[in-house]
Amino acid sequence: MPHEAISVFDMFKIGVGPSSSHTLGPWRAAQKFVAKLAGENRLQQVTHVQVLLYGSLAKTGHGHGTDIACMLGLCNEDPVTIEVNSIDPKIEFIRTQHLLNLSGKKMLPFNPAEGVQFLIKESLPFHPNAMSILAGFENGDAICETYYSIGGGFVVQENETPTAMQVVQLPFPINTADDILHWCIKTGLAINEVVLENENTWRPEAETRAGVMKVWEAMQNCMYRGCHTNGYLPGGLNVKRRGYDLNKRLLQNKSYANYTEWVQAIQAGSQSFTSILDWVSCFALAVNEENAAFGRVVTAPTNGAAGVIPAVLQYYIVFCGGYDNDKIFRFLLTASEIGSIFKKGATISAAMGGCQAEIGVSSAMAAAALTEALGGTQKQVLMAAEIAMEHHLGLTCDPIGGLVQIPCIERNTMGAIKAITASQLALQSTPDFAVVSLDKVIRTMWQTALDMNSKYKETSDGGLAVDVPLGLSEC
Ligand code: SF4
Repeated sequence: MPHEAISVFDMFKIGVGPSSSHTLGPWRAAQKFVAKLAGENRLQQVTHVQVLLYGSLAKTGHGHGTDIACMLGLCNEDPVTIEVNSIDPKIEFIRTQHLLNLSGKKMLPFNPAEGVQFLIKESLPFHPNAMSILAGFENGDAICETYYSIGGGFVVQENETPTAMQVVQLPFPINTADDILHWCIKTGLAINEVVLENENTWRPEAETRAGVMKVWEAMQNCMYRGCHTNGYLPGGLNVKRRGYDLNKRLLQNKSYANYTEWVQAIQAGSQSFTSILDWVSCFALAVNEENAAFGRVVTAPTNGAAGVIPAVLQYYIVFCGGYDNDKIFRFLLTASEIGSIFKKGATISAAMGGCQAEIGVSSAMAAAALTEALGGTQKQVLMAAEIAMEHHLGLTCDPIGGLVQIPCIERNTMGAIKAITASQLALQSTPDFAVVSLDKVIRTMWQTALDMNSKYKETSDGGLAVDVPLGLSEC
């Protein structure tokens, strides 16, 4: 069986909300398209471009900002570095002037209403998140490339051969939880150490450490910003941000100038069960409210589920282990490996597997990493991931109005709390007596994904999305 090599930076990608598959993926696809044009020296000959969105990308693309992502990608803006406050004016310019600056080098006539087509009745067989980009040239030629956004910001192009990164030979090839255990037993290394050995194949350790700490910095900034930003989320559902109010209430209306002072104040406050529960919810709400507001977030493994891992890691820092760069680094390495075996054995795309593929996977990643950080054995780490996923099996994706807000934001609080419970259960258990293994639950998740009605796979054709349509709040 070939081993797909997935790095920690494939699982944790810094970008812009609200969706990794519907925003980040299409954004990257559009960038790939303009890079191809630039590589062939054809940018200046382009007369027009058009994007066609199919399947789930078409059905929930409006709410997920897919059209915005495609336009920014065509302008070759980068999701990692773009100033998020500049997005609205850039899109407003395209919408009002009907002009798009292709790759920042060639101004083209472009009317978004025609330039990005939402083909809600059409889909392509390979994956529900499909899109084609067309370009016409001065000499009458035209090209069309098709891309699939397969979850977590990963993009594959039709007929593309694997990249060098995907075929790299790792010292510890891993496809399954059994593989992880095999290498741990053979080497005596902890899971995070096995992952680090693999990461060392791509780059020097110092670079990996610096990159992972950048990922954590983006996560913590997002959490801090979400806890200190008031107001309503965009999109028309009139969802009020709750991270802000909860943070204020828990800190008795006191405010703190930066992340460090804020953490110290939380640590100095109540450590009761309900306070800790409130704080974990607050951390998760804050991240996903930022995500819904097109803020800077990190896929973990997706944008919709971006709050679970930061909330659990922040829980660990504040209430268990204290702030320690090395522990944070190791936490994220282990979490990434668990996410990658779900991607290889099942899916991290809600359009393929419903919300079990997003919140379920993020909860399993967080549960495993927390268990290791708290001193669990390798088997307990895998057991924690199994427990977390077992109790997300069958979870559907039915975002109201196609927005990543309801049920998504609250669902991150549930994923975080379940991760902590799963970790505690595993730490109090003897894994040798476990009946269900992590590999079995991954297989079951995939089978459940295949059996799930497409109404519940990020189409907004079923569930809450139908019962509570946009603009008609239930109460
Ligand atoms: S319901 Fe779950 S999978 Fe669907 S968009 Fe929301 S967070 Fe993502």
